[in-house]
Amino acid sequence: MQAVRPFNFSAGPAALPHEVLSQVAEEMLDWHGSGMSVMEMSHRGREFISIYETAEADLRELLQVPEHFRILFMQGGGLGENAILPLNLSRGGAVDVVVTGSWSKKSAAEAKRYADVRIAANAAELPGANGRYLDIPAPSTWQLRRGASYVHVCTNETIDGIEFQALPDLKALGHDAPLAIDFSSHVASRPVDWSRVGLAFAGAQKNIGPAGLTLVIVREDLLGHALPICPSAFDYKIVAEAQSMYNTPPTFGIYVAGLVFQWLKRFAYGGKTGLAAIEQRNIDKAALLYAALDGSSLYENRVAASCRSRMNVPFFLRDERLNDAFLAGAKERGLLQLKGHKSVGGMRASIYNAMPLEGVQALVSYLKDFETRHG
Ligand SMILES: *Cc1c(COP(=O)(O)O)cnc(C)c1O
Repeated sequence: MQAVRPFNFSAGPAALPHEVLSQVAEEMLDWHGSGMSVMEMSHRGREFISIYETAEADLRELLQVPEHFRILFMQGGGLGENAILPLNLSRGGAVDVVVTGSWSKKSAAEAKRYADVRIAANAAELPGANGRYLDIPAPSTWQLRRGASYVHVCTNETIDGIEFQALPDLKALGHDAPLAIDFSSHVASRPVDWSRVGLAFAGAQKNIGPAGLTLVIVREDLLGHALPICPSAFDYKIVAEAQSMYNTPPTFGIYVAGLVFQWLKRFAYGGKTGLAAIEQRNIDKAALLYAALDGSSLYENRVAASCRSRMNVPFFLRDERLNDAFLAGAKERGLLQLKGHKSVGGMRASIYNAMPLEGVQALVSYLKDFETRHG
């Protein structure tokens, strides 16, 4: 019997699948008869190497990562990658960044320290935006430079609730620069079209495991161009050649992420399995929540319908004086961490892979009850 737990809508670090947490608890003191916790094992020992190899193979299978891409398990987080990426790929030259929200804005500012950065498009400057992030500028309008080292895009803006529903096709726009994506907050929630990607990075703590693990998936031909000032432990080529063991990788994080990948592989929903199943459930959860918000006169989500995130749903109470009462009532019902990011205000429901449909149903039912009482 699994204990009943509240529904956790945190944006990150975020909820993990109940089954995975239970398995971690069971295996904590003695992993598979080894007499050790995974935290206590040598990263070069037979046991851990098997955990690592399984995690990598499962991720490659789940996301259909082609052979000519390397999967790196690193440290440094999403913000660390904002520096590690230009240190490895910019060659000190031009980097074009598309700003669609708070995270890509931060990425542009950090890359400026290492490269010649141009903001190729800025969602905050779209007509009517008034500095807010509510839509994605059409790729055909992006001011991309010929010969840029790479183009940076954040494919799911966690704070603003904006998601690319398809990756931009830079080749079709007449550019051959590789596309680098920050997919921290929707990794493993939907398939990735690798033919459009040069590099993808993600902090683990939104959708795949504990904080401290950072995933980098990089096309092989992009390795080996790090700037001389790049720390060796962050040089993608060195990390790739050492199978992510140049220094001690975040072993416990890799182990938990590996269990999440196995959970995803066996996940079944709507007659589908694996990534297709989790994507379908994510579509259904998001549709349910946005329909409830759109159908109400108390709540609103302001993001353009074409790029609303399936993972992060910011919303506002039209009467902001009700915010505290809303959050207190939610907590009483076991609906946790719904407060919006401080830069945006209002509320935010993060409904990552681990959030069951029942969690969104419970939230929607609370939204309706609260509106009946206060609307
Ligand atoms: C959370 C997040 C980050 C920052 O990750 P850290 O691990 O805190 O450095 C970067 N990008 C996106 C899209 C995020 O959601």
